[in-house]
Amino acid sequence: MNRRNILRYLTVTPVLGSILSPLFTEKSFAGQFKSGRNLFRELGIRTFINAAGTYTHMSGTIMYDEVVETITASVGEFAMIDEVQDKVGERIAAMCHAEAATVTAGCWSAVVLGTAGVLTGSDPKKVAQLPDVTGIRSEIIVQKAHNFGYVHALKNTGAKVVEIETVEDFKRAVSKNTAMTWFLNVFTDEGKIRHHEWLELCKQYKIPAMIDIAADIPPVENLWKYNDMGFDLVCISGGKLLRGPQSAGILMGKKNLIAAARLCAPPRGMNIGRGMKVNKEEILAVYVAMEKYVNTDHDKEMKSWSAKTLLIENAVKKIPGVRTEVYIPPIANRTPVLLINWNGNLIRLKGPELMGKLRNGSPSIEVMPGKNDGISVITNSMQNGQEKIVARRLHEEFIRSSV
Ligand SMILES: *Cc1c(COP(=O)(O)O)cnc(C)c1O
Repeated sequence: MNRRNILRYLTVTPVLGSILSPLFTEKSFAGQFKSGRNLFRELGIRTFINAAGTYTHMSGTIMYDEVVETITASVGEFAMIDEVQDKVGERIAAMCHAEAATVTAGCWSAVVLGTAGVLTGSDPKKVAQLPDVTGIRSEIIVQKAHNFGYVHALKNTGAKVVEIETVEDFKRAVSKNTAMTWFLNVFTDEGKIRHHEWLELCKQYKIPAMIDIAADIPPVENLWKYNDMGFDLVCISGGKLLRGPQSAGILMGKKNLIAAARLCAPPRGMNIGRGMKVNKEEILAVYVAMEKYVNTDHDKEMKSWSAKTLLIENAVKKIPGVRTEVYIPPIANRTPVLLINWNGNLIRLKGPELMGKLRNGSPSIEVMPGKNDGISVITNSMQNGQEKIVARRLHEEFIRSSV
């Protein structure tokens, strides 16, 4: 994906080309094909500027160039999947201060496979038996505030969620059927029990503790923080700001638990994980993404997101009736979020209507709903230069609807 190809793509895309060509200087741009073919155009698939963030339904993330290169460079060789997992797992584990690690088909899959391994241990009969949990310890203690839709990943193994709120509840909930606990990091502040107290309880009752930190980098230290803290299993997405493949994630933690999880995972069949396949390209790609991410200049990256956010904010905030606010979420998706609201008497436009105009404009832009019928704009998934287009489009639409 060299610059020439990028420019060729841009010049065959009339509107985009004229707007974008001077702006793209360093990053490659998704959508170019070496053959000159463009499948998005050919199949009529809408592509857009992502001013929303890393969402599964928007296809996740833009992989680092090194990650894409890893995928294309490794497709021509065969390798044993277990060997690729062994070698990559060792490196990832070392980077993240874990005993062991394995690449999964996303964070959700890491939660399923990690849970399955806790339920089965190294017993092949139990591996074959799941999701039937007859005779298997299978209750998972989860705080009420953490009992959110993603617990489906736990239940997928046949396990049952036991919801608790307080330390007393926790103690009462422990039984000979307790298998594991699960902590959803993004909802830390909503729960009554925090990490250290939670882990003390787990140690006291000798229950393995899993944590979901799917979208919780940056900061980079979160890659090892929860392993250092004492969680037995840590699950993270590969396709959010780690910028690996969207269809990959990582399960890391205690050696015996990772080994058990792998018994429930491909390349072995006859287990509940068989459908959660990752191939060598993705396994290697996750390793390269992590290496690249760990060595990224995170301050510089944050400054770049902030500068883009500021440029967009400045383009709209002086329009009469427009109010803006920038905040950084405390735990997950910790990058600047620009909230834009406006006075409906001065600007005759509803939030969803504005989102539609941005989506149907040229180039198409996706933003997310904000507070009180406003919108939110996130710059962490924008290519350099796209912030100017987003700023211009927002300005245009607000002025057009001003009374
Ligand atoms: C995104 C997300 C997941 C799912 O991760 P995938 O990598 O898409 O499988 C799970 N938990 C939380 C909190 C998430 O944000």
